[in-house]
Order: sequence, then structure tokens, then C-alpha cells
Amino acid sequence: MTFKELNIIEPILQALTEKGYSTPTPIQEQAILPAIDHQDILGLAQTGTGKTAAFSIPIIQHLHLDSLQKEGEEKIAKRAIRALILTPTRELAIQIGESLKDYTRYTDLQYTVIFGGVKQGSQVNRLKAGVDILVATPGRLLDLMHQGHIKINKVQHFVLDEADRMLDMGFIHDIKRLLPRLPKNRQTLFFSATMPRSIASLSRSILKNPIRIEV
Ligand code: AMP
Repeated sequence: MTFKELNIIEPILQALTEKGYSTPTPIQEQAILPAIDHQDILGLAQTGTGKTAAFSIPIIQHLHLDSLQKEGEEKIAKRAIRALILTPTRELAIQIGESLKDYTRYTDLQYTVIFGGVKQGSQVNRLKAGVDILVATPGRLLDLMHQGHIKINKVQHFVLDEADRMLDMGFIHDIKRLLPRLPKNRQTLFFSATMPRSIASLSRSILKNPIRIEV
């Protein structure tokens, strides 16, 4: 299978070619088409399987096409966070940011990465400039939300990455505080390396008719 057969648009295909990706990985083969089609996904996949591209590409594609449609006045309006990618650690957040940098190269989408353990000033400045895609760890996200620097009420795509690690690290309460503030009408892409009962139950509470993918 080729990326083109997954209905990926030219600006993203070009970026993938430049990355040197010739064929999709199994999770990309299974997840990209349904995700482009706005379906929710429950993905059982470890790091290293190519899951970052599997959830990022459909989101970038959707937001890019959406931006192209909105000409004129709406385009001048301030950017809103339309995709939120939640991940448990600073390292993973940075890695996802690096992938987004490559995959968004031929779009005009803006993204940023926020995590704790560092001063918030430069993160807040980036947010003020306006971003379409936010990659975040839960603690810093809630902090900046409570300070009024982040609104998640325009999020159309929500990714929960490494859900099992998220629970192991004690982030369940943070996640439960976030969920009610996300729009109900959104796409959710949920990834976990393992599927213990607690994760299955969490996934059921936040996904709508998900496609289940296991690699
Ligand atoms: P991930 O599982 O998202 O952390 O990705 C693991 C690694 O695989 C990253 O270094 C990606 O750049 C790389 N990768 C992702 N998709 C592909 C692909 N289709 N072909 C080759 N490498 C890929």
C-alpha cells in the first residue's frame, strides 16, 4: 500500500517523501483512512510502530483543508486550538512536536508543545501568538487553562497518547477534569500499548463507536 492510496493530500505526501517514508507502517495502513473519515480510533500500539504519524496525518489533513476553505474574514480571526494531543511525558511531547514540524511543513498550520518543569513564559507567548495544534502533558495543560491562557472549547480532534502510561503516572484525575471541557462533538484518537480493564473502561467513556486497531 502507498500513502497516496490512503487519500493523503499532496502537501503532506511531499513532507513524507522528504522524510524518506516510502510505505505506511501497519498502524498507519489501518488508522489513517478511518481517521480521515472522522471516525474514533482505539489503537493498541507501542512506540516505534509509527503511531505518531498515524494520528497526526489525518488531523493535519483535516485542519489544513478546513483552513483552505475559510477564506477572507474568518482567516483573519485569531487561531483557535483545534487539535489537542495529550501525552504523559515531556520527552514524548517533544518527539511529537518534532514530527508535527515535519508533517506540517507545507501547510500554514501552527503548533506548539507545552510541558511542566520549565518556566511557562515562552510557552504562554507561543500560545498567545495562536496555535492550531497543541501538544501537552496534563499538569501544565491544566495549569495554563486555569490561568486563562488556554481554551479547549474549539477542539475538534483529541488524541490521548500512551493512555496506559498516563494512568500509571497518576494522570487519571487530570484527564477526568479535562474531558468535560472538551466539545462533545469531536473526534477522539486513543492509543495505549496495553489494554488492562481500567484502560478499556476509560476508552469506553470517551470514544464513540471506535474502530479498534491492534498492531
Ligand atoms: P512512533 O511510533 O510514532 O514513535 O514512530 C517511530 C519512528 O518511525 C519514528 O522515528 C518515525 O519517524 C518513523 N516512521 C513513522 N512512520 C514511518 C514510515 N511510514 N516509514 C518509515 N519510518 C516511519
